[in-house]
Amino acid sequence: MSTITERLNEAQARIDAAAALAGRVGESITLLAVSKTKPAEMIREAYLAGARDFGENYLQEGVDKIETLKDLDIIWHFIGPLQSNKTRPVAEHFDWIHSVDRLKIAQRLSEQRPDNMAPLNVCIQVNISAEQSKSGVTPDQLPELAAQIAALPGLRLRGLMAIPAPESDPDRQRQALARMKHLFDTLRVGYPSLDTLSMGMSDDLEAAVAEGSTMVRIGTAIFGTRK
Ligand SMILES: *Cc1c(COP(=O)(O)O)cnc(C)c1O
Repeated sequence: MSTITERLNEAQARIDAAAALAGRVGESITLLAVSKTKPAEMIREAYLAGARDFGENYLQEGVDKIETLKDLDIIWHFIGPLQSNKTRPVAEHFDWIHSVDRLKIAQRLSEQRPDNMAPLNVCIQVNISAEQSKSGVTPDQLPELAAQIAALPGLRLRGLMAIPAPESDPDRQRQALARMKHLFDTLRVGYPSLDTLSMGMSDDLEAAVAEGSTMVRIGTAIFGTRK
């Protein structure tokens, strides 16, 4: 059994190799370590091995870990689905949210963001594979929501996030990722400060880096399988 440190280094090496292959050496590609369902001690180990960005999906679990690990200089990302009546803990504890897909949630997050904290960094989630039951805006809805979020004082719009439908064929995998890159580049014409395209997980990180991801969200490859 390899250690978390070894697996983190392997994940980073995969990102670096994919970046080299894509001619993206020197560009910033952040490894977001997805620690949902894993204990705080595993996060500490990954932190000591150099990880700084961690992603959580479940609110209470995430807030508990933020409290437990407050001695560490971690950047916390909320990446799970969020109900509009549960926004306050995200606004008060996290640095980023990747899963905003409705104005009502954005408005509440902005209102609830404490004045003494930097604006909450936001990615809009896009339902890029047009799946029935998935969260995320359609590409059509994106420009309007982006304009609304960009105007909210407690938020800082950073970019887009997607979870493409599982796809074993690499060409098909890349098509959805390429559509995201196109949406991102189009949106950036109006908002040049956008810098984050959050896509790629343990199984498709190479394809995501090839298609322009700037932040890959890696869980299983670092922390092992989840129950
Ligand atoms: C769980 C999760 C991940 C990590 O997935 P792995 O396949 O374990 O790497 C990434 N993004 C989101 C939104 C997730 O919920």
